[in-house]
Amino acid sequence: MNQRLLHIFRETFHQLKPRTEMPELAAEFFPFVSINNTIRLRQGKLRVRLSDVLEGAPDTVLQAIAHILLAKIYRKPIEREHATRYRRYISSHDIANKAHLLRQVRGRKHVGAARGHAYDLEEIFDELNSRFFHGLLARPQMSWSRDRARSRLGHFDPAHNAIIVSRVFDHPHVPRHAVEYIVYHEMLHLKHPVKLRGSRRCVHSAEFQAEEKLFPHLAQAKHFLKVL
Ligand SMILES: [Zn+2]
Repeated sequence: MNQRLLHIFRETFHQLKPRTEMPELAAEFFPFVSINNTIRLRQGKLRVRLSDVLEGAPDTVLQAIAHILLAKIYRKPIEREHATRYRRYISSHDIANKAHLLRQVRGRKHVGAARGHAYDLEEIFDELNSRFFHGLLARPQMSWSRDRARSRLGHFDPAHNAIIVSRVFDHPHVPRHAVEYIVYHEMLHLKHPVKLRGSRRCVHSAEFQAEEKLFPHLAQAKHFLKVL
């Protein structure tokens, strides 16, 4: 039982329902796969579980969550101020990253090996990272695709933090710069997350494209991938 949560939920409850005795409450931080907060009223007892990502959140944020959850279960209007405070906290960089990490560790997708027959994707990532990104990018899971589809050369899967490259390119006849270019392109996706412009997703922004042009063998690599 978390005393801090208990205290916050009790205070929030009395603000929401000043003339009512609060039911028995069990509140805890819980290792959900993603940020998730649940409340249940069962047999007169309240049971609250907050994502453990929020364990370090300031009281004001926990008060906001308490308000949202209690308002929900007692069908009271959710005050905008609380909703905004909670949303802001969740979308702050740090928390978004932590949630990302959680999904990786707790919901790991099955991905194959980074080391293929001809090329080792981890080695290529590390080398490109120091050459073009000052070693600043955190290496995601690197994997050759399980099938040999070429419709996609490669892709970055942000939910699982994985770069997948089509297995067709794991071949000694494929020049290294072609594989490097595919990985480099996906690394730019790591560096430039998809932006929403109105309702349109901007996947390859102007900055993205400008940086892609810095790849030294861009023309040869693109040519090779086209004629393949
Ligand atoms: Zn792309």
